[in-house]
Amino acid sequence: MSDGASSEPAAGAEQRRRSAEVFDAVAERYDVMNDLMSLGTHRLLKRALVELTRLRRGQRALDLAGGSGDVAALLALAVGCSGGVVLADINASMLAVGRDRMLDQGSANVDCVQTDATRLAFPEGAFDAVTVAFGLRNFADKVAGLREMHRVLRVGGVAVVLEFAKPRAGPPKLLAGLWDAYRGAWPILGRLVVGDAAPYRYLVDSINSHPDQDTVSGMMEDAGFAQVECHDIFGGIVAIHRGVREKS
Ligand code: SAM
Repeated sequence: MSDGASSEPAAGAEQRRRSAEVFDAVAERYDVMNDLMSLGTHRLLKRALVELTRLRRGQRALDLAGGSGDVAALLALAVGCSGGVVLADINASMLAVGRDRMLDQGSANVDCVQTDATRLAFPEGAFDAVTVAFGLRNFADKVAGLREMHRVLRVGGVAVVLEFAKPRAGPPKLLAGLWDAYRGAWPILGRLVVGDAAPYRYLVDSINSHPDQDTVSGMMEDAGFAQVECHDIFGGIVAIHRGVREKS
């Protein structure tokens, strides 16, 4: 596991502070904004993510940066009441939304845990699958987060990562240009719906600065994953990475 926060580089501490500020500000309206910004498509992407875990009844799954619980709810259905899911997030406001939702829908097999994905306290080999949806780009140290995902998986377990990526289909620059223009509207939408554009400028910045899908595949291999595969979706605007823990 990583060292304590006292040895954390200043840039990491700043990213953590900014991310906390943003998710505190958006937690209440997070789900509404997600539906508006993605035109509802995030729901299909999360279904694809959970399909790729190939979880069976009775198994255990961890959803990191799980926020308001969309993925945890799907994982809970996949493993059934004989299995278990942990919904983990660093941010208390986001986790409170997720916890309320799990209670409301009676997902008794989901535990909610406030934790930093890059410093997990779960024992080695505790899970059959670990997922992270639209969370990796927020981690101050992405490889540390991926290493922790690898560590807490059993041998043969899978990690699945859903994240924005870099468009690379069709005529050069056409899709990238359209995508730039589309997400340029998100801060305006944020001002209208949440009353604040700043969190949505952070969102756009975090997408711009996130590495491309080949780099993320390399990071997964550096973290110890084998059989790393990458599935581009919407021409590479989004990608789903899958990797397997092969060795103890
Ligand atoms: N997975 C959810 C979804 O797809 O709807 C939420 C995604 S939201 C864009 C990103 C989440 O990552 C936030 O809830 C935030 O609190 C969480 N997060 C950011 N940094 C984190 C970290 N280091 N460890 C755990 N969660 C983190």
